[in-house]
Amino acid sequence: MSEENSGARRTAVVTGGGSGIGRAIVHRLAEDGLATAVLDLDADAAERVAAEVREKGHEASPFGGVDVSDRAQVDAAVQRIRDAYGPVSVLVNNAGLTGFKKFLHITDEIWDRIIAVNLSGPFYCAQAVVPDMAAAGWGRIVNISSSSAQSGQQFMTHYVASKAGLIGFTKALALELGHEGITVNTIPPGFIDTPMLRKSETKGLLGGSVDHHADLTPVGRPGRPEDIAAACAFLVSDEAGYITGQVIGVNGGRNT
Ligand code: NAP
Repeated sequence: MSEENSGARRTAVVTGGGSGIGRAIVHRLAEDGLATAVLDLDADAAERVAAEVREKGHEASPFGGVDVSDRAQVDAAVQRIRDAYGPVSVLVNNAGLTGFKKFLHITDEIWDRIIAVNLSGPFYCAQAVVPDMAAAGWGRIVNISSSSAQSGQQFMTHYVASKAGLIGFTKALALELGHEGITVNTIPPGFIDTPMLRKSETKGLLGGSVDHHADLTPVGRPGRPEDIAAACAFLVSDEAGYITGQVIGVNGGRNT
């Protein structure tokens, strides 16, 4: 879709759209008028979120049981999304796995799984949709990385390496796709109150409670998934066409 006919409804794919930050992004993009594909490993969660959106009168469909680290599953899902909604013009690579392990306890299997989901997943998803965007001369890719890739984080070498890789992926791909009308940016969230964060709190992996960390955050509260969704909604808009290759921190001032 070119800038000239941007009045037609665009199609967005949100990976990991069944929970937390991804769920908020699905709601926001659907409210902004995009037909939104909720792609998630958890089929029930994808169904639930798509149903919530449709109840509010917006357009979303579930594409559950899809593992972003499996190229064949990604390609098949993207084809089903195209069949339902037409070419994809927005991709939000949000699906991610976290992990806490002392460095010497990270096995090859743990390392490979984190890299497969957090870095190869965005690679497969972007390769699946970039041809649609290039054909239309318009596209938006937003990669959800992590503020831990800016600051480092102990016991998360594998996770931080995967997210730092995603930041480099963003910068390189932006240079390559700018001439095609496609922007590529990354949002590294910091301390967002989601099921992922609460699981880490329950396991005692945060080095203090969520409330304790909120006190240490300049804006005095944990982030909300909607904070990330708002930044994402701007980055996928027409107005953001001059922003590409950027790292847009949304972290309450925890990282600058
Ligand atoms: P979340 O609540 O755990 O949601 C992640 C969603 O992604 C879940 O529905 C999960 O499904 C799905 N998913 C996991 N692996 C997948 C795969 N291989 N293929 C498809 N879907 C998969 O996490 P969140 O906190 O919203 O995090 C979203 C993103 O933000 C992640 O990339 C995370 O690294 C990043 N992030 C979050 C924070 C934070 O403070 N929350 C901070 C920095 C970065 P299952 O439930 O079935 O696994």
